[in-house]
Amino acid sequence: MILADENTDFLVIGGGMVGLSTAFQIKKKYPDSKIIILEKEDSLGKHSSGRNSGVLHAGIYYKPESVKAKVCIKGSKRLIQFCQNEQLEIMKCGKLIAPQKIELDDQIDYLFQRGLANGANVKIIDEKEFLDRVPYGFTASGRALWSPNTCVVNPKNIIKRLKEKLESKGIIFIFNSKIKEITLNNNLIKLSSKLSIKYKFLINSAGIQTDRIAHKFGVGLNYKIMPFKGIYWKLSPSCPLKFKTNLYPVPDLNLPFLGVHVTPDLNGNINLGPTAVPALGRENYRNTENFEPLMTLDFFKELANQWVTNKGGFRKYSTEQLLHGFKPFFFKAAKLLIPDLKSDYLIPSEKVGIRAQLFDINKKELINDFMVEEGKDSIHILNAISPAFTASFEFADLIIEKIKF
Ligand SMILES: Cc1cc2nc3c(=O)[nH]c(=O)nc-3n(C[C@H](O)[C@H](O)[C@H](O)COP(=O)(O)OP(=O)(O)OC[C@H]3O[C@@H](n4cnc5c(N)ncnc54)[C@H](O)[C@@H]3O)c2cc1C
Repeated sequence: MILADENTDFLVIGGGMVGLSTAFQIKKKYPDSKIIILEKEDSLGKHSSGRNSGVLHAGIYYKPESVKAKVCIKGSKRLIQFCQNEQLEIMKCGKLIAPQKIELDDQIDYLFQRGLANGANVKIIDEKEFLDRVPYGFTASGRALWSPNTCVVNPKNIIKRLKEKLESKGIIFIFNSKIKEITLNNNLIKLSSKLSIKYKFLINSAGIQTDRIAHKFGVGLNYKIMPFKGIYWKLSPSCPLKFKTNLYPVPDLNLPFLGVHVTPDLNGNINLGPTAVPALGRENYRNTENFEPLMTLDFFKELANQWVTNKGGFRKYSTEQLLHGFKPFFFKAAKLLIPDLKSDYLIPSEKVGIRAQLFDINKKELINDFMVEEGKDSIHILNAISPAFTASFEFADLIIEKIKF
């Protein structure tokens, strides 16, 4: 909490994994600098960074020339190292990617080549090895891709520890504070608490609200965020089907979603999900909570427009996904991964997250790669979808390279 107006070298908007890791790396590069992190909630982890699958991805899916490919593997190694140094738990359980339809079998070779091009450790395995690893899993062709370096962590523990490390280095957190006014000419932000902060450089890492702040800087005007809700289910404790590793379907590589998957977590749960259902608001985690009628209307208008013009790659997926919000349809999708699954084995999970998915308003496309744009004395992390948690430290270094300080 601050009690008086402040001057700072760096002002970071948003205490998610991207803001925290960027602040961490800035402090390394500019040890004498003053850094303030502004967080609108009363604590960290209320949005994506505290609500994700906790999977440290191993760099398989991404186009080799993409930013995601550049930062995922190195970022994962750095986050694993951070967890080890800080004695935070990591489950080195690996991950399988299996085709749910025979015609998707050639995607295994494609993903294998892509993984190799990105420097990932991947191996194509046969049905025997697949069933040894996931006795209750399904591969339509008898083949699967094995990624031994995929891990599972507890994201909330990681951000909690990062906050402690940042505070020990003198970084100031301001909670419960919303931006009321931005005066670009003299780099001044007025907060809802009536206090002001004057900054030399601002980092906008506000997750699902980033575009709204960027627009105030005249940045990213061709883009807006479309929120996709990720609902999870879990296997009931009495379910006899056990999983010690992640099981993912072969995804549609034209979309930024990986499909409903099986993920064991550090609390002993076997989670299934997340879906990618159009959300009724950017923070609409449950029912009508934080319902945004205009935004919802806009989302469905974009979806309808995609059907009418027959353009835009996400219309079929999003429409299908609408049904996945209902248990019978989710169960049907999950059964493709686990043929012996019974409806009774699926119980609701308290886990739910919303993806801050960037959309190109002119091209009518979802943006697949990370995207960062510069503004006056500021940088705006417009698209920090998965695997931004995994990649955060390496991604932060890329962000910092662009800072003119
Ligand atoms: C369902 C789901 C599953 C996922 N699974 C994985 C996974 O397994 N592995 C992986 O690597 N990634 C995964 N991701 C992606 C990952 O969670 C995100 O890429 C990452 O957390 C983004 O971090 P962030 O800091 O950009 O956003 P956030 O964590 O959302 O942080 C942004 C912060 O900004 C704050 N804020 C917003 N507006 C303001 C404002 N005006 N003023 C001050 N503060 C503000 C918010 O309160 C929030 O704390 C998943 C995401 C979802 C939704």
